[in-house]
Amino acid sequence: MSAILPGETIGILGGGQLGRMLGLEARRLGYRVAVLSESDGPASQVADVHVRSALNDLRALRTLAACSHVLTFETEHLQTDVLEDLEGDIPLRPSPAGLRQIQDRLTQRRFLAALGLPQARFASLSGPEDFCEAVRTVGVPSVLKTRRDGYDGRGQVRIAEAARVVGAWEALGRRPAVLEEFIDFEKEISVLLARTLEGEVRFFPIAENVHRAHVLHLTRVPAAIPPAAAAEAERIGAAIAAALQHVGVMTVELFLMRDGSLRVNEVALRVHNSGHYSFGACATSQFEQHVRAVCGLPLGDTSLLTPAVMLNLFGDLWTDGTPDWRAVLSRPRASLHLYGKRDAAPGRKMGHVLVVADSVEAASDLADGIAADLGVPR
Ligand code: AMP
Repeated sequence: MSAILPGETIGILGGGQLGRMLGLEARRLGYRVAVLSESDGPASQVADVHVRSALNDLRALRTLAACSHVLTFETEHLQTDVLEDLEGDIPLRPSPAGLRQIQDRLTQRRFLAALGLPQARFASLSGPEDFCEAVRTVGVPSVLKTRRDGYDGRGQVRIAEAARVVGAWEALGRRPAVLEEFIDFEKEISVLLARTLEGEVRFFPIAENVHRAHVLHLTRVPAAIPPAAAAEAERIGAAIAAALQHVGVMTVELFLMRDGSLRVNEVALRVHNSGHYSFGACATSQFEQHVRAVCGLPLGDTSLLTPAVMLNLFGDLWTDGTPDWRAVLSRPRASLHLYGKRDAAPGRKMGHVLVVADSVEAASDLADGIAADLGVPR
């Protein structure tokens, strides 16, 4: 299959920060970038072409396809049947078929179960008739998650007592959901990998993630985990990528248990927040790697150049106006990434800080200092 070369155009479905960083790296490589998104935002600001439309509008997708040589996505909130209509016209990487397995949490859980991969007990919960059976299968404590369109902690509720399931389901808008066992993990980690059209797989160093209120707060790399757990995480990632015939970067979030075993939390068929550290701390960033994979080029070196901590910046920091960026910019070895979002709503990801140092402990201390100076809640 012939490669898509610099000078040609990569079409990105979705207009957020992931699309922005993909676009920045694609442009550095000499590609042109076309973005499909509903409004002007992080990705369209760095694009050569902006197709302004709802993501699942076939006519708009055709317009994007007409000015692109390959299409990829930065969000999984897409309609696979609409994407399938485009498949004969232009390469779509990753494929809608893979996305179909992953974008619905229940389908994803069943797919992982069919591969025999370790994960939380789960049950489908579509309506009141399922409550008893779901609670019997999963038990409490548990987490109720909407099957679709959940992200950054939205669309999920922790349940401490069985009697709370009904209220939780109502709070989630009575939508089809999955009840999952609450996992008492030791750590959260993620494995990012890229897979080529020929099936070659290359991993990024495993990231250790700290979440707050179900949302990623920071990432530390290298992860302080046993080598056997790292190898198992990679085995799981490779098994999923192969089963999906995936092309591009993908991410598997995992829970590391106290006995060293792993449970898959979720799979994302795209670049991921927990891989942002690679944009500055690895020889090749996750964004460049994705571009290489979907364009049919050789994968880049994913070596970690330096220990690093990535700290997310949420809209809450803007409550009293723009934060004082001297807290970041005055520190050597810290870099500021802002996504160009105009409105800073609480909980909205506005940017991140990457801190590098000679050890992950030193990077953590520096990141703590920056967080304190910026007023990030402890
Ligand atoms: P998710 O959107 O499914 O990735 O969940 C976001 C975060 O919520 C995870 O990274 C965990 O910190 C927490 N979480 C989600 N599911 C579970 C679970 N089954 N048990 C414990 N914590 C969970």
